[in-house]
Amino acid sequence: MICPASEQTAALTIDLRAVVENYRLLAARAIDSQIAATIKADAYGLGITQLAPVLAAAGCAFFYVAHLAEGISLRESLNQQGVAPPIAVLHGIAVQDHAVAAAYQLLPVLCDLGAVEAWRRIAAQQNKKLPVIIHLDTGMNRLGLAPADVAALAAQSDSLAGLDVRYWLSHLACADKPEHPLNQQQLSLFKAQLRGLPPAPATMANSGGIFLGSEYHFQQVRPGCALYGINPTPLVGNPMRPVVRLTAPVLQLRQIGAGESVGYGASWRSKRLGKLAVLPVGYADGWLRSLSNRGHVFFGAHAAPIAGRVSMDLLTVDVTDVPDHLCAPGMPAELIGAQQDVDAVASAAGTIGYEILTSLGARYRRVYES
Ligand SMILES: *Cc1c(COP(=O)(O)O)cnc(C)c1O
Repeated sequence: MICPASEQTAALTIDLRAVVENYRLLAARAIDSQIAATIKADAYGLGITQLAPVLAAAGCAFFYVAHLAEGISLRESLNQQGVAPPIAVLHGIAVQDHAVAAAYQLLPVLCDLGAVEAWRRIAAQQNKKLPVIIHLDTGMNRLGLAPADVAALAAQSDSLAGLDVRYWLSHLACADKPEHPLNQQQLSLFKAQLRGLPPAPATMANSGGIFLGSEYHFQQVRPGCALYGINPTPLVGNPMRPVVRLTAPVLQLRQIGAGESVGYGASWRSKRLGKLAVLPVGYADGWLRSLSNRGHVFFGAHAAPIAGRVSMDLLTVDVTDVPDHLCAPGMPAELIGAQQDVDAVASAAGTIGYEILTSLGARYRRVYES
């Protein structure tokens, strides 16, 4: 894509050093476990081709994606770097794609008994052991073998014939709430299930799970959000380094008279003679429409409230109280950064940091700091 020199677009800066620091912080927390990076959804919107090599260079030797296609592109980008860590596909891999999975060395996460059976058949046909991960549902009720199916698997001695189980996997529903009783329930059930199954390493903790304590760590942990700077411990301060900065230049400054309205639906009305700044960011860029008349952007340390609806490509903010030397056409407003982190934006929007990051649009000028 050709970028004009006078870019009037917003800039998304991704601090790759912070990603590495976050990886190390987590490694120090889960000292006896492997740190597998969960890098699905294009590394939570930040760019898998940029982040995966950096994580691999930092020592990350195992990756989780959600889709087969994500696994293929991750494999291709890691190949270019000359490293070949295991990549597991959380949604599983359809039987008809098993040859693709083998060609790209992708590990399927088997999520029901049907998938276990199907991969056993492929192993028998090929007369070799196939590496797999098996997902045991311990209370999320989303993906994974239900407890009765796990019992059936454990009861039948040849139920895993032909399969090389690399990990028994489970996933926590409430890891960001340490007091939630479901954490302990899921842990107890998972441990009980592991006792009845053929021995293999186990993995349970996402980012939040790492902070629940070492009994949740097993042999591998699977952080996603914490690597990307989202707070994995929302009830206390964020132990992670911020990764993302989003700034947007002022496209236009304009006066607004007392009583005049702003934007679609005329949902905001000025109470005084004031000043507005128009920024080139809208809901098509992932600046969620739910931020209409909520939340702020910053000029230096001065907050400028969002005035009116967020439209597709534009955002209007009230800069009446922002000093002129901080706010002129072309000068940057901070949307995510030192003044407000991803979690603060999410909270203003009524969502979670994950949704803010994975919604970040394709129109930003992306700058990777290394
Ligand atoms: C997304 C996901 C993770 C990572 O979760 P975070 O909360 O982002 O750390 C780990 N395991 C599974 C199964 C997931 O779906």
